[in-house]
Amino acid sequence: MATLDSLKRALGQKARATTASSLRQPLSDTQYSAGFDILVRGPGWTTYQDFIIPQLSRLLAPLFQSHINISVLEIGPGPKSVLGYLPDHLRQKVRKYTAFECNDLFATRLEQWLSCASETESPFPRLEKPPDIHRTPFVLKDNIESGTSASIGTTYDDQKYDIILFCHSLYGMKPKHKFIERALEMLVERPEGIVVVFHRDGTLHLDGLVCHQTASFPTGVVRVADNDEELDCFAAFIAGFIMQDVDVNEATRVDRRKVCRTLGRREEAYPDHLLFSSPNIMAAFTQHAITLPELMTHVPPVKGDNAVKNREARLHCPASIIKPTEIRHVQQCVRWAVEHEVSLTVIGGGHSGHCLWPNVVSVDMGAFDQIDIITGEGDGGDPGGDSMSLVVAGAGCKTGDIIRKTMAAGLTVPLGARPSVGAGLWLQGGIGHLARMHGLACDSIIGAVVVSVDSSQVLCVGNVPSQHRPAGSVRPENESDLLWAIKGAGTNFGIVVSVTFKTYAAPTYLTRNWVIPLSGNLAARLKLSEFDKLVVGKLPRNCSADAYVYWDAGQLQLGVTMFESSTTSRTISTAFTPTPVDAILGPGADVKVVDGVGLFETEMYISGMHGGHSGGKTSSFKRCLFLKHIGEENIASRLVAAIETRPSALCYLHLLQGGGAVDDVAADGTAFGCRDWDFACVITGVWPRDLDGTEAASSAVRWVYNVVGDLLPLSSGVYGADLGPDPRDAALAAMAFGPNRPRLGHLKDRSDPHGVLAYACPLGAPMEPKLIVLVTGESCAGKDYCADVWVSFFIDKGLKARAVSISDATKQEYAVATGADQSRLLSDRAYKEQHRPALTMFFQEQVRQRPQLPEEHFRKLVHDAVDVDVLLITGMRDKAPVTAFSHLVSNTRLLEVHVQADNQTRHIRRGSSNSSSSNNNSINSRSYLTALDYCPSLVFDNETMGHKTATRFAEQYLLPFLHEDLQRLAGMVYSIPNFPRQGIEFRHVLGISQQPVGLALCTSLLQTYFTGDWSKIDAVACCETGGFVYASALACRISVPLVLIREAGKLPPPTISVDKLPSHISSLASNDTKHTRMEMGRDVISKGASVVVVDDVFSTGKTLCAVLKLLGEAGISAEHISVIAVAEFPFHRGRELLRRHGFGMTNIQSLLVFGGA
Ligand SMILES: Cc1cc2nc3c(=O)[nH]c(=O)nc-3n(C[C@H](O)[C@H](O)[C@H](O)COP(=O)(O)OP(=O)(O)OC[C@H]3O[C@@H](n4cnc5c(N)ncnc54)[C@H](O)[C@@H]3O)c2cc1C
Repeated sequence: MATLDSLKRALGQKARATTASSLRQPLSDTQYSAGFDILVRGPGWTTYQDFIIPQLSRLLAPLFQSHINISVLEIGPGPKSVLGYLPDHLRQKVRKYTAFECNDLFATRLEQWLSCASETESPFPRLEKPPDIHRTPFVLKDNIESGTSASIGTTYDDQKYDIILFCHSLYGMKPKHKFIERALEMLVERPEGIVVVFHRDGTLHLDGLVCHQTASFPTGVVRVADNDEELDCFAAFIAGFIMQDVDVNEATRVDRRKVCRTLGRREEAYPDHLLFSSPNIMAAFTQHAITLPELMTHVPPVKGDNAVKNREARLHCPASIIKPTEIRHVQQCVRWAVEHEVSLTVIGGGHSGHCLWPNVVSVDMGAFDQIDIITGEGDGGDPGGDSMSLVVAGAGCKTGDIIRKTMAAGLTVPLGARPSVGAGLWLQGGIGHLARMHGLACDSIIGAVVVSVDSSQVLCVGNVPSQHRPAGSVRPENESDLLWAIKGAGTNFGIVVSVTFKTYAAPTYLTRNWVIPLSGNLAARLKLSEFDKLVVGKLPRNCSADAYVYWDAGQLQLGVTMFESSTTSRTISTAFTPTPVDAILGPGADVKVVDGVGLFETEMYISGMHGGHSGGKTSSFKRCLFLKHIGEENIASRLVAAIETRPSALCYLHLLQGGGAVDDVAADGTAFGCRDWDFACVITGVWPRDLDGTEAASSAVRWVYNVVGDLLPLSSGVYGADLGPDPRDAALAAMAFGPNRPRLGHLKDRSDPHGVLAYACPLGAPMEPKLIVLVTGESCAGKDYCADVWVSFFIDKGLKARAVSISDATKQEYAVATGADQSRLLSDRAYKEQHRPALTMFFQEQVRQRPQLPEEHFRKLVHDAVDVDVLLITGMRDKAPVTAFSHLVSNTRLLEVHVQADNQTRHIRRGSSNSSSSNNNSINSRSYLTALDYCPSLVFDNETMGHKTATRFAEQYLLPFLHEDLQRLAGMVYSIPNFPRQGIEFRHVLGISQQPVGLALCTSLLQTYFTGDWSKIDAVACCETGGFVYASALACRISVPLVLIREAGKLPPPTISVDKLPSHISSLASNDTKHTRMEMGRDVISKGASVVVVDDVFSTGKTLCAVLKLLGEAGISAEHISVIAVAEFPFHRGRELLRRHGFGMTNIQSLLVFGGA
């Protein structure tokens, strides 16, 4: 699919070839407007919905939080203000609006929109004066002064703004950096303002300007109807001109249609349309954008051409590449980045796409290329290495350098297969031919020297031989955490200067290759199955087998290379392995005995496939995920299908064998959390190098992501190396570190609080749906039906929603284990009922063997749903699932809707007359209902036919959780870093009440979101301090008395009291773990009353537990108590504590949920 940029170039070339430029005429406002409309409608609007608006909201949220009033300048907004799409609570703060919009039509429409009298329709309802819309281009000061641009006759020069937004690219502005510099001069200085640029296509070459943040949206698409009229309009808009002469113009139109039809892509779903790729990038700048020279005075830039290996990275245009030669230079880079609130990237071997990033300074570690072998120190308390020697390798070393140098000393380190790959490999994993024998490269790291990206201190972590400890270096407080993290996620926590490896005796390798032509799909699947079961499954640890699935010589091929390592010549000279390899793969040709360096040349894709890729000048793009049982039909067929759909002959799959020592390390033993796999499957998109940056390259990249998407549900993890901030990597990054992700996320927040290493593999909270609804209930109550109705309801409201069943994974595994028909299990109700008891037993047995399985299933569903707003999950078997799972999605609202129906209705829905689970209860009796021993968030009576009641339920009870008022309330909760202790981010929930309308908003939300019936509530209970504030206001509003609960000794007698553990935040503040007592007046509430407990924060549940006990002492049973908190922190698993203490039946609600501690 051609990009709009390449379409523009092609249209320009065609015009140059056929017409004189003097005949050109700029578009009229009407023509421009018609073209613009095509650009932003349909999928074009998706770019706004999925990228521009969410990115802007995220980027600007801190600025909106720290400024009381906001002034805005938009440059080229079009007919509507882009900032006008921000959430309501942000727009309310905009007090001054200025725009430069030189298209008269747009300017008029913009003015009308902004001047809308109605508060609900006006995008900026609180403007202090009418919007100031200049119907002229935004021009450089010099041009106004020199008279080359019309002066706009205003004093806009002197105006200062908090936000300046270049809305739709910088087209026509040359040189671009000058326009940004001009805008920077127009920012308010304190508090600091921001310039934001959205740009379609290509990279922004901004001549040394350093950006504060960037983000990209590579998947943007524009869809154009394939008819002459629309193509004429669109092509003229993209080209930017029409022809003066009517006849010439007509001929040009014909040419342009041809160009569009040649370059546009057609898709089956839209046969009458052409698609063009329209990637978009965002770059944000502050006044620090021009501070690069400051850094350059301390640290030398790269001399000559630093051509990093990765071709994708080369297309990025960094602000500068600098090359420290001493550790203090690295420290200076960090200090500069922290001071100016910008990020850095780091170059090791230059093989990933993220070592260079547009408008970001890159730190090339190439000068740190020393390798030192230290003999006799290998016992340093670390188990494992079979030699007494250690290797200290600088961060600029390459795999080949280390292998060569250690081999000369009879030693080795388990690294990867290519000599030019650098530190990114061992810091993020490192899968090589010794992995089954000695583990991953990161498993051999026992120490490191790191420059902290927080304090810029030099940190020594783990075993660093004394002569390699830099003067002034310190041991960090969280040393063991940091060493743990470096082993698998080491590109995220600091700039690594060197690592210490344990070493092993250097082996010799026997390699053998097979190339097996496969006659078709079935043959391929059989061969993979044989290879998996009969060859791979039987190999000893010193052997490994790699497979390649590829297309060559007109057919599918399976390439296999076997590696056998040995440190004694006796073993190596014996026949290969004891497995019947030849019988299965045929006689292997090409047997070689090589050393560690020679091994580099034996890689099949270098030496054999497609005539040898290395000689053929190709570029590639890879993503890697982990698979088990590749011979099983569902996986093997997808591998074959992947090759069948390859966009170019050169694409292939590389399967590297795992198991052995890789699996010996526990998943949480190092940051590299995915250990349980048979093969690492590297999906490799390849294209000829001279087609870099063209459609050939894009389609290879698209293919890689498509194959990844297809295999991901069957995978047992993802390799984090090479993942970056590309939104297409989000779902992969979410699975990259297995169970370690939350720990890594917290460590990242602590170690890199300024986001200096913002473009490494993303560790932050994965994007999660805004709302997850667990739809539970007895069989045939209509759970799936309701879930589908609610999905349609949310989609109608413009949200992305999806229903999935958590039991599908079990059904798949059950089908494989028992031979049951998987598709019937998923779709045939009667068949499913027949298997239900066996399926339940199967699942129970699975959970007995792997207690964390339900959590894993849940996590996977959520990770796969990164693109939805609302996820509905059916098929839950767990009791109190909100209690069980909410800590796993602590940024997301998790609700359970229990769907119920009477026996007769369920009976009819089941469609059978003799179901074992039906009984003879009267249909009017409520005794048929499941006896739950906990309180679900909501209950839905699904008795009536049709979707209307379910839709009404969603409107009334589910949709409100996505209402803007909750976001507004969340926006009032300020974060205070390092309070009350270093490393803690304090959310000031009580601070809501200190804001102008905070208390009023919060109280009204507490009243409306309560799912019970206020008319039946006798009292509102609360404890100090936060509870007092919100409960008092609420009690006043609903006119019920307060029950005050205080620390012992503060209320007059008579009182009743209970023991209480200190709350989370007070124990953090004072390290105090003493029990205290809480009490309330003895007679303030009558026995059997209904009480609502109101508190500001619900985290560990300790305070609430004491409150509920106290109310119990006062004669109020758990079923008659409801709790509503302003903010919940599910991470602390408060619900679980309450359930354990017998309060599972208490209805607990919260207005806001926050992730983190
Ligand atoms: C041809 C080829 C062969 C490969 N073979 C293997 C293989 O056999 N086994 C395997 O496991 N993987 C392999 N990979 C994947 C490889 O491990 C990753 O691409 C890895 O990220 C490359 O590291 P690098 O240092 O060469 O690249 P870079 O792009 O320089 O670095 C990769 C990442 O690490 C960060 N980084 C680098 N140095 C530092 C530092 N000192 N401190 C902090 N962060 C740093 C960078 O910022 C970047 O995010 C291969 C890749 C290619 C292209």
